This record gives sequence, structure tokens and C-alpha cells, in this order.
Amino acid sequence: MSDKDTAETSHTFLVHDEQHAEGAVSPPIYQTSLFTFNSYEEMEARFKGQSDRALYSRIDNPTVSALLQKLCLLEGGDKALAFASGIAAISNAVLGLVRTGDRIVCVNHCYPDTYRLLRLVCARFGVTTDFVDGTDTAAVANALPGARLLYLESPTSWLFQEQDLQTLAQLAQTHGVISLVDNSWASPIFQQPLAAGIDLVIHSATKYLSGHSDVVAGAVVGRADLIDHLSAETTAYLGAKLSAQEASLLLRGLRTLSLRMERVHQSGLTLAGKLSAHPSVKRVYHPGLQPHPQSLLSGYGGLFSFEAEDSLDIPTFCNALNFFKLGVSWGGHESLVMPAEMSINQAGSHSAAVDFGVSARLVRLYVGLEEASDLWNDLEPAFEAASPHE
Ligand SMILES: *Cc1c(COP(=O)(O)O)cnc(C)c1O
Repeated sequence: MSDKDTAETSHTFLVHDEQHAEGAVSPPIYQTSLFTFNSYEEMEARFKGQSDRALYSRIDNPTVSALLQKLCLLEGGDKALAFASGIAAISNAVLGLVRTGDRIVCVNHCYPDTYRLLRLVCARFGVTTDFVDGTDTAAVANALPGARLLYLESPTSWLFQEQDLQTLAQLAQTHGVISLVDNSWASPIFQQPLAAGIDLVIHSATKYLSGHSDVVAGAVVGRADLIDHLSAETTAYLGAKLSAQEASLLLRGLRTLSLRMERVHQSGLTLAGKLSAHPSVKRVYHPGLQPHPQSLLSGYGGLFSFEAEDSLDIPTFCNALNFFKLGVSWGGHESLVMPAEMSINQAGSHSAAVDFGVSARLVRLYVGLEEASDLWNDLEPAFEAASPHE
């Protein structure tokens, strides 16, 4: 983290709440489907849009609203929407902004289920997607004229390649294209795409915003007109709302977000550095090791990958690990390992098999909140166990 960012950005609001009823230090969980009115006139005012009193928990809920307020402050956005999952945030944002005949420009190596949404669902409704190399700003610029959406993810999944978000946001604006970026990897602590001109930021709140691997949730934050459009035209009817219980868990997770991000930043860089010097590792994919000249990142998440040397037996390596558990997802307290070949060969499971264009020799690591020295003491013998012995 640069001094500039820590000096300018105070995250005290994540810890400090306004006073709640009875002096409670956490907001109440409004476990209710509907909210009643004291009079005909009061209800009528709500229906006429003259009051913002909660009506029905598919539409609005005060616990969820408390979360949305914090997400707006975190990302510097006008308005926000919360969803039952990150992919619900993505599908609502995309489906809410396109119509038949539209074209989307999307970066290569986006989150695999985003790829499936665009290729399998959007295509069925006559919305096409051009996948482009996000590191090649000129290639993205060439694809923009006539497009409806520019869908970015910086850094990308598996290869962790950054895009020049500021330049791409300006180019999108020039061509009248709405820009979206999946900011789950960096979290708003380390990257602020809206300040760079991006229209909407998307989060899998399942990851860092929650931080404890006990919630599946998503959010979209950004321009008021776009969020209002999504509310009025789409989100209420697709119905993928966030529950008050999960909003409360997210508010709890947010209290420690900046502490957790500092920790994974440090541990991630330490381990990525050690791994890049290891004889069983061909290359480490971590944005801190190959800094992008136009990077907006003021720090790094704990998720990165490495390409194993041919000699490393990946199943043996995974089985020899103790702290790094085999598992999907990331962003919680616990360290995880995920081999790319399993993710690539998903035919037969719930997911459609798609070619992400990444090497089957990639291994993704998520560095959690354990001590970095303990994690290295876990990795080193696993490499030893999985390498050929003379
Ligand atoms: C996990 C993930 C998602 C999807 O979020 P869910 O909460 O699992 O629906 C989207 N984008 C990225 C980068 C992710 O890692």
C-alpha cells in the first residue's frame, strides 16, 4: 500500500456506526418479509415514491440498506444493489442493460461462470460477446464501436492480468459504451474503479467483503441512473435478493476488511516471491510481480497462481498440503488450493465445460489469514513430496 492511499482514505466508517436502537453496536436484523403502514396515507406515499420506507424484503430491507450505504462509501458510488450471489449481481447487471442484437466486449480469462453466462445464456437471447485480450488496450478499443457493454475484470481470474482501467473507461465513454468491472480480487480497499471513470463495479461479496466463508452474496455499485434503471427494469423481477441475515454477516465482515486486506497483501507477496524462486515453479502469476504501468492497485489480494514445472506431480502436491485445503472460492480466513486442470475438466459436473485458454499446469493458491511462515512451512514439504527423487 502506498502512503498516499492510507493517508487519503479513512475506513473508520466500516468500524464506526451511527447509534442503533437501544444503543446496540450492530444494526438489527430485520427478519421480516413485509413492512406494514400506520395509515392509508402513509402507504400511499410509499407507492407514489414520496417516502423511502421499506415495503417488502424482495425490494428493500433496512439491514440490507445499511449494507448498501457502506458499499457506496467504500467504492465511492452513488447507489448500490445487493444480491444473493456474485453471479446474481453479474447476471442482473448484464441482463438489465442489454437487449436483443446488442454486443458485449469482455476480457479474456474472466471468472469462468461469467464466461458461461455470456456464452450460454446471453447468446440465447441474441446478445453476442467479443472476448478480447484486456492487456491490449488497442484491441479493446477496436472492439468498442457499436458495443453496448464493456465487461472488465481486473486483475482477471487464473492469470491475474490487469487492464488499464482509466484509459478503457475513457474509451468506453467516448463510444457510448457502459463500462463494468468485477472488483472482487482487489476489494475497494486496494482499487477504486469508479474514481477512474468506470460506470459500475461488481463484487462477489462471498469473497473479501464477507471474509469468513459463511456467506454467498453479491453487489453492484455505481452511477445512480444505471442503478435506478436496474431497480426499475430488472432486479425486482429476477428476484435474487440478499437476505437480512446475510447482510448482517456482511456488515460484520466489513468491520475487519481493511485489516484482513493488509494481511493477505503482505502474506500473498511474501509467498509469491518465495514461490517464484522455487525450482518446481515455472512462473508465478501475481500482479505484484509483473506490475502494470497503469495499475490502479494500491495493494494486492491473496489470490494468485503458479505454473508448475513438468516434474511436479500436482495431485501429490495438493494431497500433501495441510493448511491449504482443496476447495473452490477464496477470500475467507482459510488458505485454499485449486488446480486448473480440475476447473477446466468440469464436463459432467454442474458446469458446462469451456476452454478458458489457461494451462492445465496452473495451480491457484489463496493465501488466508494464517501466519505466512506456517503457510510456507506447509508448501515447502509438499513440493518436496511431489517432486521426483533420484
Ligand atoms: C467467485 C467469483 C464470482 C462469483 O461470485 P459468487 O458469489 O460465487 O456468485 C465472480 N467474480 C469473481 C472474480 C469471483 O471470484
